[in-house]
Amino acid sequence: MTDFASLLLDQCEDWVLLVNPKSLAIEAASPACLLALGYQDLVGRDISEIECALPDLFYWDSVRSGLIEPLDRREGLYRRQDGDILPVEKSIRPLASRGGDFLAIHLHSIDEEKSRNHELESTLALVRATLESTADGILVTDLEGHIRNFNRRFAEFWNLPEKWLLLGEERRIYRCMLHRFISPKAGRSFRDSARAAREQETFALLELKNERWLECRSRPQLVDEQILGRVYTFADISARVQAEAKLQEAMQQAHAASVAKTDFLNHMSHELRTPLNAILGFAQLMQEEGCSPHEEKVDLMLKGGWHLLSLINEVLDLARVEAGKVDLQLENVPLQGVLRECLALIRPMSETKSIDLQQLENFPSLYVQADPRRLRQMVLNLLSNAIKYNRPEGKVWITLSATDHIVSIEIHDTGIGINAEDITHLFENFSRVGSSQHIEGTGIGLAFSRKIAHLMKGDIRAISTPGQGSTFILTLPRAQPIETLADTPPTASRRLAPLRILYVDDDATNRLIVKAMLRKQPVELETAETGAQALQRMHLGQIDLLIVDMHLEDMTGIDLVNHLPPPDTPGAPVRFMLSASDDADIKNRARNAGIQRYLTKPLDIKEFLEAIAEVHRQQH
Ligand code: ADP
Repeated sequence: MTDFASLLLDQCEDWVLLVNPKSLAIEAASPACLLALGYQDLVGRDISEIECALPDLFYWDSVRSGLIEPLDRREGLYRRQDGDILPVEKSIRPLASRGGDFLAIHLHSIDEEKSRNHELESTLALVRATLESTADGILVTDLEGHIRNFNRRFAEFWNLPEKWLLLGEERRIYRCMLHRFISPKAGRSFRDSARAAREQETFALLELKNERWLECRSRPQLVDEQILGRVYTFADISARVQAEAKLQEAMQQAHAASVAKTDFLNHMSHELRTPLNAILGFAQLMQEEGCSPHEEKVDLMLKGGWHLLSLINEVLDLARVEAGKVDLQLENVPLQGVLRECLALIRPMSETKSIDLQQLENFPSLYVQADPRRLRQMVLNLLSNAIKYNRPEGKVWITLSATDHIVSIEIHDTGIGINAEDITHLFENFSRVGSSQHIEGTGIGLAFSRKIAHLMKGDIRAISTPGQGSTFILTLPRAQPIETLADTPPTASRRLAPLRILYVDDDATNRLIVKAMLRKQPVELETAETGAQALQRMHLGQIDLLIVDMHLEDMTGIDLVNHLPPPDTPGAPVRFMLSASDDADIKNRARNAGIQRYLTKPLDIKEFLEAIAEVHRQQH
């Protein structure tokens, strides 16, 4: 080798070796090559000591036997000074020079490159595995909308041949996607909004033709804070949408059934009360007038009639509470007053049954959050049970206890008691337990009361010792006392001018009953059959109290009062509604129309006359 060639080799930063093709001895090595392989010097060494892969040995064998063949970018293994094996890529060229023939080996390490490639491959494999393992369909596009990546789920959701995706047939893919939308318009608007979105995130619900619903979210793909494209994720929510649709349908059906049930209940209630009004109305009048020698029979008629009415009310109440149609007016109720009232109301029953009922003693002053009418109904039910299921000469009493938040009303009796197994069924509809079957009852009261108590955020439970007696505990949320106005002193009674009443009802029997009930009262009663007649009469003025039926032939009672000047107009009459309908909706509408009092048929003569007397007092 010339000095010039050896100088050139010394300057070379590549890894180069020159080998004698005859002896296979290394004639020269670039310093970079020595450094990479860890040798001080390589001159004189046999190349086959350094190259150690099997194909390398075969190659040098054939060189030794005179067959010199150039090699290009062939992989091989080199043994380093420290014994490590270094993978390399090498090219071998024959060189002819004045100094002799050589084989020049040009090599570089592929160790780093290999591991870099390997790393890249495994990252890509991980990304692909992640893409494929999600349940969502994924599509990645560049800023122009060219598809850059996707997963199989995406192809599956849109029913796209995977081949198209692999071949990058974008036009066909996008056209096919548009075609999959149930409405072409929705497809176009999805496409346009995807095009318009730059930095924003988008969300869309897509309905496809194959009954598939996809939830699509898209967001910009950011690399080093630069937007490179968009990532779309598609979630198949068909099952959820179908379940929601079914639920919706079930809810609509339930709602329709509930409306039908309510309509039926209201209709039944109306139809049952109307004839009962005639029966009880006339029976009450006969009783008032004294109907010797039929007093006993009229008493029985009335007893039967009121009992029938209470049964109708109980069944309808239960049905209403089950249909969620009970309208509660929650107030802060002073318990003392309610309990005294209930004890007074139930006393006649206890006397008939010879039960020792607690006297009206002073209860602690406690308030509960409750609907006063329903609270009375619950307490009366518990008291009447305590009397009904008692033994002769037994006792019934009430105790109260309270915590900061709850008031307990305990109703005790010394009656037949209930065994533990029966207590678990006590609050079921129509449940009548133990030896109580022969005692008059329906098994509705407790079931209804507990449901109402729950609606008021309270409860009812029972403890009992068979043969000794029971305690029913009604708990209700405790309320704060309300400030009461001092009672206004009673005004001195004086003779009042007759109250002028107009009663509007299309039913002749009802008009007859009201007329008979008011016969001895200080009133001047006029009647009308239709709304039009009533309006004509009202026009003439001088009516203090207007009593309307709800269902008239030509309009409703509410329509009728809506034609009148507002109730606060000077000289405007007081308005009552007298209806066979016990529907809470109608009652509310009546209240909103300025109707002061809603009386239900069958008409209780006492309640009716008291209401009239009150108007009379207010008017004068
Ligand atoms: P009813 O009294 O009309 O049958 P309730 O729902 O009020 O309906 O009561 C259900 C059943 O619970 C009664 O039939 C009776 O068997 C039992 N029961 C209720 N209260 C008592 C009580 N104080 N003592 C014993 N048994 C009772």
